[in-house]
Amino acid sequence: MSFANKVVLITGSSSGIGAAAAISFAKEGANVVIVGRKEHKLQKVKEECAKSGNGVLVVKADVSNEEDAKKIIKETIDKFNKLDVLVNNAGIAGMSSILSDNVLSVYDTIMNTNLRAVVHITNLAAPYLIKTKGNIINISSVAAKTTIIISPALSYAVSKAALDHFTRLVAAELASHGVRVNSISPGPVRTDFPDNAVGSIVASMEDLKKIVPLGRISEPEEIADLILFLASDKAKAITGSDYVSDNGLLLK
Ligand code: NDP
Repeated sequence: MSFANKVVLITGSSSGIGAAAAISFAKEGANVVIVGRKEHKLQKVKEECAKSGNGVLVVKADVSNEEDAKKIIKETIDKFNKLDVLVNNAGIAGMSSILSDNVLSVYDTIMNTNLRAVVHITNLAAPYLIKTKGNIINISSVAAKTTIIISPALSYAVSKAALDHFTRLVAAELASHGVRVNSISPGPVRTDFPDNAVGSIVASMEDLKKIVPLGRISEPEEIADLILFLASDKAKAITGSDYVSDNGLLLK
């Protein structure tokens, strides 16, 4: 799966799944654009990616800020002149139920990052992806496909369910341009995700491990492997699909 001379933009690549994907793409020859809000974390990922000897661009940006989103695409094109792969990975969890007093404020925060920003960045990136006949991978979640209440993550689950249909609609629209669009729905993955959540997450990774049929939690590199597969020519027939990697959680 060589990505030599490809330009891959991964939002939310200062930690977790996005960081693992950026490092894997770099190892496979890609020039990578890494994006996040935390400078110190971005620098660590940059150092890892740079070991491959390919181009690395760091864009410190909040994907939910419209000017920042424009900056991400502009700096990518200014530096590399093209875009082959967009991974819409930046996302946050938010704890609220329909009985919560703060349901609307959590809803706005979550939707702005997990959905609105994806719509905006995809809109800005699409003309460049059409030129390269590139592809898009959206990072969804099993939370979009189940009502198993692990933690009261109403807005989070709704944001990812909407993202799934966004994936299908954009796949249908861009297919005639040769652009593929797919999503991945991880189950629990060991990342900084719980620490970055809006409100504290009730279930710990150890709690989740007990209810997952395979009795294990994934590492970010497992999801990165799937991202690279979907971004590669091996997946040339695949568009509008969602790949679940959840240690069997949805069997429940
Ligand atoms: P992390 O918290 O480790 O990574 C999230 C990344 O998103 C960070 O790099 C963070 O960067 C970035 N991010 C968050 N908000 C913004 C923002 N407004 N602007 C720019 N960057 C932002 O968690 P994961 O790696 O686990 O999460 C990646 C994706 O995987 C998410 O979409 C999540 O919903 C999904 N997922 C995760 C699961 C899990 O169990 N871990 C399960 C299912 C899905 P920074 O803080 O520097 O801004």
